[in-house]
Formats: sequence, structure tokens, C-alpha cells
Amino acid sequence: MSVLHIALVPAAGSGSRFGATAPKQYTDLLGQPLLRHAIARLARHPRIDRVVVVLSPDDTRFAGLDLSDLRPIVDARACGGPTRAASVLAGLRSLAGEVAADDWILVHDAARPCLPAAVIDRLVATLADDAVGGIAALPVADTLKRADTDARIDATVPRDGLWAAQTPQMFRFGVLLEALEHADLDHVTDEAGAVEARGLAPRLVEGDPANLKVTYPRDLALAAHLLAAMEDLP
Ligand code: C5P
Repeated sequence: MSVLHIALVPAAGSGSRFGATAPKQYTDLLGQPLLRHAIARLARHPRIDRVVVVLSPDDTRFAGLDLSDLRPIVDARACGGPTRAASVLAGLRSLAGEVAADDWILVHDAARPCLPAAVIDRLVATLADDAVGGIAALPVADTLKRADTDARIDATVPRDGLWAAQTPQMFRFGVLLEALEHADLDHVTDEAGAVEARGLAPRLVEGDPANLKVTYPRDLALAAHLLAAMEDLP
């Protein structure tokens, strides 16, 4: 039997940088919450077998989402933790017994509503025979400056070899579970960081500038333009 590709969407954050009263993942974008866009982009991709959403234990909104136009492969678990890594780990633990160590987990932010199908295609194709996994990422194009405490330039940082990490981050279930079980959940900021800390070297797979992460309210206008321009609108 071929391995499964399971999308895991941590959606248990409170969105403190976003500043709204509702959690960021429920912010409206073109008539739908960000989270629903992210779920739809995954559930509509033919290589994705399941979409598992990790919610906060006090989530009251997910049950109200209409997912009836999507394949019935989406399920949610209210097992989120205090950090993103804790939420992902709780989601993985909840899958133990349902998935095999070699199955693929694609962790994708609820806050990335414009994921192009081609990024999933590239991850699945590039990593098919990989023992570990890899992440969607883009080479850094801008010149990088390190700021001092007065917002003045302290140094220009060489950007050679630097990539900006996106999601999905795609790892073998067994590799990712083991890595997160050993991780410092308060400080690890992405799945790759936990896997790197185990001495493994995840692959970098070309992401897409359209796959932006909505972090601040100003990001919503750009996301709306990108979604409207995407040919394969959900
Ligand atoms: O806040 P930030 O954009 O970094 O969150 C990235 C993703 O991690 C979001 O989808 C958010 O809902 C999720 N998250 C989570 N549990 C937390 C914090 C963040 O599932 N405790």
C-alpha cells in the first residue's frame, strides 16, 4: 500500500500579533475565515488523503464552518496547546495508531490561505523517496539588515544561502513525532527546527511568494488580491 499524505493544520493560536478580538484563523477573507481557505486548498488537492485540524480546547467557531463542498476527509481535534509546536505535537499524538511511521505529515499554517497546488505537487514529488522530509521555502531576495535598539542599521547580514521558511512542512510521521517529543516546545518555531535539532537535514523545496502568511491586518488586502487572481479558486 502506498504511503498516506496527511495535512495537519494547527489552528489553536490566539493571534496576538494580529490584534483582533477573534483568533486570527477566523478572520474573514473574501467571505470565508482564513482557516477555511487553508483547509479548502489542502482538501481539494488530489494527493492529500486527510486533513486534520488542531483546535484550541475552547474553540467555539469551527463547528459553524460549512465544509460540505469539500471531500469528506477533514476532521478536527480540540487538543491544541500553548504554542504552535505543542499544538502540532498534540495533533500527532492523537494520530498515533491511525497512521504509519512512514506516512507523510504536511503541517500547514491556518494563516496561509493562498497555498498554490503546485507547491504541494513539488513537495510530494521531490520528497517521495526521502527518509526525512523537507519544507516549502524561498531563497531570500532582499538585502538583510540587523537593527539596533533605535531602529538603526547595526549590520548588513549576508543573505547567501538564506531561505525563508514557509509551510507546508512535510515530514515522515515517525520522524516528526520523535523530533517534537524531544523539542523545547516553547522555543521551536517550525517543524523543521525540531527535526534539525535531531541532527537531520530537511530538504528545501521551492515554495511560492503567493503562499504568504497573514500575520498583520495589512496582509489581508494582499491575500485577497492573490486569492482573487488564482485560477484554481476554492
Ligand atoms: O501566530 P502564528 O501565525 O505564528 O501561528 C501559526 C499557526 O500556528 C496558526 O495556524 C496558529 O493558529 C497555530 N497555532 C496553534 N497553537 C498555538 C499557537 C499557534 O495551533 N498555541
